Amino acid sequence: MYIIFLGAPGAGKGTQAAAVAQKLRSAYIASGDLFRQALEQGTDLGIQARAYMEKGQLVPDEITTRMVLEKIAAPEGEAGAILDGFPRNLEQAEALDKALAGKNRGIDKVVYIKVPEKERQRRLGERWVCRHCQAVYSAKKSPPGRNGKCDRCGGELYQRPDDTAETVQKRLEVYFAQTAPLIDYYTRKGRLLEVDGEGSVDEVTGRIEAALHEGAFVTG
Ligand code: AMP
Repeated sequence: MYIIFLGAPGAGKGTQAAAVAQKLRSAYIASGDLFRQALEQGTDLGIQARAYMEKGQLVPDEITTRMVLEKIAAPEGEAGAILDGFPRNLEQAEALDKALAGKNRGIDKVVYIKVPEKERQRRLGERWVCRHCQAVYSAKKSPPGRNGKCDRCGGELYQRPDDTAETVQKRLEVYFAQTAPLIDYYTRKGRLLEVDGEGSVDEVTGRIEAALHEGAFVTG
């Protein structure tokens, strides 16, 4: 199956997409993680993406779409994948549909995680990320164990430079202008599942698993 995770910054989309991918033993493709890894490694892709990410803008479609479609075409993405952070606008969604149609496949389900703005802002302010494996921690709710190091891999934790108030504001504007229209796009296609993203990580994961299982798609 190909499953997309949608949600505003701070909705918990990355945490949940990674958890569900693990449970379903599915490939996990997170465009933001791929950019951050490229940045850490100092590759051309990272250098190209950096200026956009720092400003909270979208990295141009031709760079992003190529990067993600390559992952989908790779052996690990062939059977299906959980997509986190892609597509982020209609052009990307259409390019993805076209690429999957070429393999007689399509997007099976879209999980839209809804969280009120106040809660999303709070989560972003407390977010720490592992430099090495990109695991996400909340400074208050799930403080990492070993002296600020990642519980999973021991990597150094840092706060994303694009989680500052100013950049978060820009990312929200971009989200509502460019990404939110995808909610309608996938509703029209009969693929959207809406999930309440408030509560503990495990509670929300449980709701997503139930929604994926029941397939109660939102009708337009
Ligand atoms: P994320 O980790 O999903 O919040 O993404 C972090 C940043 O990476 C975004 O603010 C964008 O600058 C860039 N990015 C991630 N995914 C995409 C995408 N699908 N299209 C364009 N830019 C993206």
